[in-house]
Amino acid sequence: MVSVVWFQDDLRVHDHIALKKAAEQPYPIIGVYARTFSHPKFSPNTAPIKASFLEASLHDLSFSLGRYNIPLMVFDEAASTVMDTLDHAYGIHTIYGHYMAAPFERFEAVKIAQKYPLNLYETQTLIHPSDLPFEVDRTPNGYTSFRKKVEKLWLIRDLVTPELHTQDPIEHTHHLNNPSVESFILEPGETGGLRRLDYYTFESKKASTYKKTRNGMRRLDDSTKFSAYLSIGALSPRKVYHTVKAYEAAHGKNEDTYWIIFELLWRDYFKFQARKHRQTFFHKDGIQQKKVAWISDETRLQAIQTGMTGYPLVDANVRELLATGFMSNRGRQNVASFWTKNLGLDWRLGEAFFEKHLIDYDVESNTGNWQYVTGIGNDSMPFRYFDVIKQGERYDADESYLLKWVPELKDAPSGSRYKIPRMAPGERRALNLDYPEPIVDFYPSLDAMKKRYGV
Ligand SMILES: Cc1cc2nc3c(=O)[nH]c(=O)nc-3n(C[C@H](O)[C@H](O)[C@H](O)COP(=O)(O)OP(=O)(O)OC[C@H]3O[C@@H](n4cnc5c(N)ncnc54)[C@H](O)[C@@H]3O)c2cc1C
Repeated sequence: MVSVVWFQDDLRVHDHIALKKAAEQPYPIIGVYARTFSHPKFSPNTAPIKASFLEASLHDLSFSLGRYNIPLMVFDEAASTVMDTLDHAYGIHTIYGHYMAAPFERFEAVKIAQKYPLNLYETQTLIHPSDLPFEVDRTPNGYTSFRKKVEKLWLIRDLVTPELHTQDPIEHTHHLNNPSVESFILEPGETGGLRRLDYYTFESKKASTYKKTRNGMRRLDDSTKFSAYLSIGALSPRKVYHTVKAYEAAHGKNEDTYWIIFELLWRDYFKFQARKHRQTFFHKDGIQQKKVAWISDETRLQAIQTGMTGYPLVDANVRELLATGFMSNRGRQNVASFWTKNLGLDWRLGEAFFEKHLIDYDVESNTGNWQYVTGIGNDSMPFRYFDVIKQGERYDADESYLLKWVPELKDAPSGSRYKIPRMAPGERRALNLDYPEPIVDFYPSLDAMKKRYGV
């Protein structure tokens, strides 16, 4: 008989209650990861850089578990099928895992629970759902009201450290292939996550200036870059919280250190919104059930998905995403706004595009943020939009970010590169740039969409 630890978005050893519970039993432990192609993170559509980041993170976990002779068996099958195979080979006593609320993941868990003892634990969020000062389905729709309520009670549980013991080796054939050699902007896995957390706090003390730099697009350290680790559970949100608290105790608390937790709470907020609204959270009309007459236009779609809209900020950000798997929060807001408010493309196409490429893809954060920026979700403003020209000028004043990703604008006049789409066509042509004409006119396209939004 064996205890099975079913890994999903919890690819770590620290703060892992399922591993702890399994280690308390008198049976050898088998770690399992089911890499099904219907899984949102492993579909044939997944961008190679994103799939490799996950693969390399699985390797890291496999190495950490291997220290105790705990194998990490990786299957390209649905978890429910995998459990039958394991039961046949070893006899399953109990399966331990991490509770995932999203519909696809729930479906597999329900199937498994029909056949095997399955213990799932709530570890996705910083605040345990039962510690919320309201029922999950009464989560306030506004972020501020949510935050104020939870901050009043402020109950964050301690980290759970598994006590692992070296067990006898278990022979098996479900190993990972060697990871492909990719150069990621971040070191993968739990090892990378813990290092990044330590770097951003104690080592560089960047945490003490986070709020001032977080809107930047240019430097790796402008923001924490914890998101890729949180999305696969290579870092636990509580680990981030307790490390920030320890850092504050050692080096002082300020608005910037607080703001890391403030932002982390947005992640919880969208996870609780998803639980509250269930199917509606994923519905095309969003939680507001607002109907927008989207424009179906293949040329526009192609242009934005390849970073060729003729709008420098949008193109730079999309190209960064395609090359690295990352886009800053500022970039995401601008791209999503331009996608829906100027191009009039269905937000779900944007959501799917981000899902394919983002190394930090997280179903609730992505859906919730897309709906928010689109104006059919938690933002009650009827038609909020970003001026992608002004935003470029404000957040990349020296245009260094722009030139990194859109080098064909090198010979355009410095200081006015973001304005290129607003120049008169003759003026633009005179610059003789190898760069697309703007795909739409900025203000007329907004006006057209306002009508389609009914505002
Ligand atoms: C259209 C759109 C799509 C997005 N899709 C995703 C996604 O798939 N996965 C994802 O993790 N984030 C998503 N975000 C939120 C945010 O952009 C990223 O979390 C952030 O840019 C990641 O960089 P960071 O870790 O350096 O963030 P930091 O600024 O350092 O923030 C610290 C942490 O707080 C959390 N956080 C910050 N902002 C948000 C937010 N708006 N919503 C939820 N959590 C937040 C993240 O966990 C982040 O790691 C999206 C935002 C938009 C506008």
